[in-house]
Amino acid sequence: MVCDNTTAQSLPSGFGLYLHTPFCRSKCPYCDFFSIVPAKMQEIGSYPALLIQELRQSAKSWDGPLTSIFFGGGTPSLLPVQGIQEILDSACATFGFADAIEISLEANPGTVSPRYLDQLRAAGVNRLSLGIQALADEDLAKLGRVHSRQDSLNAVNAARRAGFDNLSLDLIYSRPEQDLDKLRGEIDQLVQLQPQHLSCYGLTIEEGTPFALMEETGSLALPGEDAAVAAYRCVHEELSKAGFNHYEISNFARPGYECRHNLSYWRRRPYLGLGAGAHSLCGNGWGERLSVPPDLALYRQRLASGMATAESIEVCDQQLAMAETLYLGLRTAEGVSDAAFSHRFGRSIAEVFPVAIKRCGNRLKQDYGRWSFDVDGWLLYDHLIANFL
Ligand code: SF4
Repeated sequence: MVCDNTTAQSLPSGFGLYLHTPFCRSKCPYCDFFSIVPAKMQEIGSYPALLIQELRQSAKSWDGPLTSIFFGGGTPSLLPVQGIQEILDSACATFGFADAIEISLEANPGTVSPRYLDQLRAAGVNRLSLGIQALADEDLAKLGRVHSRQDSLNAVNAARRAGFDNLSLDLIYSRPEQDLDKLRGEIDQLVQLQPQHLSCYGLTIEEGTPFALMEETGSLALPGEDAAVAAYRCVHEELSKAGFNHYEISNFARPGYECRHNLSYWRRRPYLGLGAGAHSLCGNGWGERLSVPPDLALYRQRLASGMATAESIEVCDQQLAMAETLYLGLRTAEGVSDAAFSHRFGRSIAEVFPVAIKRCGNRLKQDYGRWSFDVDGWLLYDHLIANFL
């Protein structure tokens, strides 16, 4: 699979690298991400070597430099630091690093020691995303998390001492028995921890998860739609008051601390995803989406036989590329630039999507040459964006 980035559509050079770690200590009952609980620790210890092999295989198809690297999962903080160091060394030798590259790693607060965080920072990871999710022990237990409130506080302190000055914290809201006062209290406590970035996701029920079964049998009741809307507004208001930019539907940052890796997804820039269950967007033609099947045995087998790990799942035509540009870009406060869209596709947004624009009404605004939704638009995002697809 050749992903030739030197195509007619002028994109900035370089790309982001996503590395998927499909291991967790235990499975949270709400989660449908691809991850397994390994039977033996060796399975995790041998995984970095597989990522490095896959990375080297990709060298012929992708032109660096790397602008960002994101270790996601699963639980990447289960990987040994030595393995992370070797992956970063190999990525740098293979593709080169752009100046001020952002290197993020997702960590479960129950899996990191001060020593681990010191070593991680020394290895070059410069952005840490801690999956705190809730602040009271009984709520963490209900979410099936392996960590406690104290683990989270310890991890934040240790991360600071290790020199992480770009720290992101995750919160899950719209949980059962979480009213607005309790939510405000949790947000306040998170803000007191002085993160640079917060990712806040409303709890949703994903098909096939234990929570889906519990909901079906009546042992789990999520807040209704009105309560979910009120919670979303509450998160927006509290974090805006605290000085965070609500820069994407679920993401908030101090100015200048927006996650550059994730912004590149929403700007529909090419990225390479490695690891079982990872996805890529190649920059050839109007874009091609690849996927590594979420199957560890198959992943190992393909690498052992020298085969490509990823399969093509979609070759985009111009119409799809235009729709995706809106679909992704309208998730962000910066929205989509009319000039950049016209430059790339030869037609303006208004020419391509007159009906969709009309249907979105005043939820879709055009300011200073950019189209974007406001917070009310984001609340209706699924409904409104369907007009563009
Ligand atoms: S730790 Fe994260 S990836 Fe692992 S099961 Fe829980 S939510 Fe899913």
